[in-house]
Amino acid sequence: MEVVIVGGGTVGLCTAVFLARQGVSVRVLERRPTVSDHPRAFGLNPRSAEIARQAGMTFEDDNLMRGVATGPSLAELTPLTGRIELPEIGPARLGHCPQDRLDRSALALARELGARVDFGKEVVGVSDTVLTTADGETVEADYVIAADGARSRVRELLGIGTTGPGVLGNHMLNVLFRAPMPAPKYSMSVLRNENASGILMNVDAGDRWIFHVPGGDPAQSAEEFQRLIRAATGLPDLDVEVINMLPWASTAWVAEKFRHGNVFLIGDAAHVVPPTGGFGLNSGVADGHNLAWKLAAGGDALLDTYDMERRPVAQFTMEQSLIRGEHRELHWDLSPARAADRAAVGMANALVVIAGYRYDSPAVIGAEPVPSLEDLTLDGTPGSRMPHLWVTPGTSTLDLVDGFTLLTGTKADGWLAAAAEVGIPAHAVDSWADAAGIDENGAVLVRPDGFVGWRTAGEGSALDLRQAHNHLLCR
Ligand SMILES: Cc1cc2nc3c(=O)[nH]c(=O)nc-3n(C[C@H](O)[C@H](O)[C@H](O)COP(=O)(O)OP(=O)(O)OC[C@H]3O[C@@H](n4cnc5c(N)ncnc54)[C@H](O)[C@@H]3O)c2cc1C
Repeated sequence: MEVVIVGGGTVGLCTAVFLARQGVSVRVLERRPTVSDHPRAFGLNPRSAEIARQAGMTFEDDNLMRGVATGPSLAELTPLTGRIELPEIGPARLGHCPQDRLDRSALALARELGARVDFGKEVVGVSDTVLTTADGETVEADYVIAADGARSRVRELLGIGTTGPGVLGNHMLNVLFRAPMPAPKYSMSVLRNENASGILMNVDAGDRWIFHVPGGDPAQSAEEFQRLIRAATGLPDLDVEVINMLPWASTAWVAEKFRHGNVFLIGDAAHVVPPTGGFGLNSGVADGHNLAWKLAAGGDALLDTYDMERRPVAQFTMEQSLIRGEHRELHWDLSPARAADRAAVGMANALVVIAGYRYDSPAVIGAEPVPSLEDLTLDGTPGSRMPHLWVTPGTSTLDLVDGFTLLTGTKADGWLAAAAEVGIPAHAVDSWADAAGIDENGAVLVRPDGFVGWRTAGEGSALDLRQAHNHLLCR
């Protein structure tokens, strides 16, 4: 089986890693000459970080989540938020890694795992799973994944519409530059004075910075941006080297379908959300992770569940991002004290958006809806991300997942024998019964993406397990 991914941005490259890791032959076609050097997202939320961990993707975490401040210059800043801390919900914490660095790490790993990544290949035609590139190549695949970003040519050529408000205004210009400024006290500084205004972010621990200019015009000269940055920072002699610019606008829509025949939309090609919350890249990575194991397992009915599971999550994430755009102050303050304020505007706690969503499709047995928008509930309910427990120091229950995996209570020898007979890896885990809502002789069948597919409180047979496994594979 050959899978071709159109677009070697972060989501396309990460998905190439997920597929290649499962032995799927994959080729990425990317129109740029190399990976983008423009960092956009900085934060990998804990769910994305644990997906990266499962896939063996390593990235240097700069530990730069130092909060937000505002003022008329860098010398006169008043803090708006403190350091952003999230409670431990899994084996990986919130990670700070500029998107361009993540791309380089995903590219290297994808190639190491055998994926073919071709740069300078722009896809200009799509007919089912036959693609044509600008340089005249015809590429045939069994499945095509469109990871070609918000202006997806593939989506457009397939005539797939979108729903949602669209462009919300707020045109911004991101200016990427080098300057020898000292390491910042804050990860984001909102600078405003009579000569200039914008948002300054340190890209990494080195000398790369981003200045977000509201309404900025990319046609302006590098000298004008130098003047603007010097005026905003209050450093008139600052040595500024403009690297490049990226115009963007806050936008919200979700594609009307994520599957068209054997073509699947993922990442920004499938949904675009406004920036507050930092959900865009993160939900794209989760798309690829959801789709990859289904492609590896095979089966048309199973592949249908990609749209059934991810599109409602995208819709929910878009709505939550829109609410955050109106009530930014309620977003990162996760304290119970703000719960009533969040409820009043329909805002879910950020952790629920990040990891608390549920899947309800034929690839889950006994799914239940999200019980609370405020409390993250990862209690073993089918359709939810499996509970995280440290099994030994440094090894989480999530680290035990190797394809479909059975996790049992401590008195479940029958299930362990059944799993051996069916050929599914199985582990008895202390405290799992309590965490997952089963008895000590019960079991939970976890899907390859770490979501609970089926749980059973008590004993059962190899036949029960085989039936559940086949059900989750939609066979
Ligand atoms: C300023 C800014 C800040 C952001 N901050 C955050 C954040 O903090 N957290 C977060 O989660 N998200 C954030 N996002 C959103 C995040 O950057 C996107 O969601 C993410 O880049 C989507 O990745 P993608 O791979 O789907 O699309 P893209 O990154 O757009 O990649 C698409 C790729 O497809 C290629 N391509 C396009 N057309 C073709 C074609 N016809 N043939 C071949 N290749 C093609 C493009 O060259 C590109 O490399 C931010 C976005 C912006 C603009």
